[in-house]
Amino acid sequence: MPSFVNPEKCDGCKALDKTACQYICPNDLMVLNKDLMKAFNREPEMCWECYSCVKICPQQAIDVRGYADFVPLGGSVVPLRSTDSIMWTVKFRNGMVKRFKFPIRTTPEGKAEPTGGFPPGEDLQSIALFTEPQSLGLPNVWTK
Ligand code: SF4
Ligand code: SF4
Repeated sequence: MPSFVNPEKCDGCKALDKTACQYICPNDLMVLNKDLMKAFNREPEMCWECYSCVKICPQQAIDVRGYADFVPLGGSVVPLRSTDSIMWTVKFRNGMVKRFKFPIRTTPEGKAEPTGGFPPGEDLQSIALFTEPQSLGLPNVWTK
């Protein structure tokens, strides 16, 4: 079941070049109506329900109609992301609300090293991973 935008909350990401939901969607589904400055999911049937747009929206304007086995009718599951954690607010059909908060990173934002500290590999023909042989603790990667 696809994501959808609540137009009352969406502010079009304040007219930035690209909205947060456009930036994050792995399926390129979110578009911005520039006249109304409201985003929408242009192909709901292609939505993976990955929740990326829900998590990144700064206005909490996006929600997902979850599959019935995950979110039964009348329930809701809403994530709220901060710089180091995410909190899921789960509302059950009987009105009970539970919140679960989890850490989401082990490094401060913007500090993750893409190569993990290993020098970037340059030999694209090599059968070794770019971290090898250092990550194996060996002087070489032996092959037949
Ligand atoms: S990220 Fe949220 S506020 Fe920004 S355009 Fe998308 S729905 Fe609107
Ligand atoms: S839930 Fe995932 S696939 Fe669906 S619109 Fe949002 S980011 Fe794209």
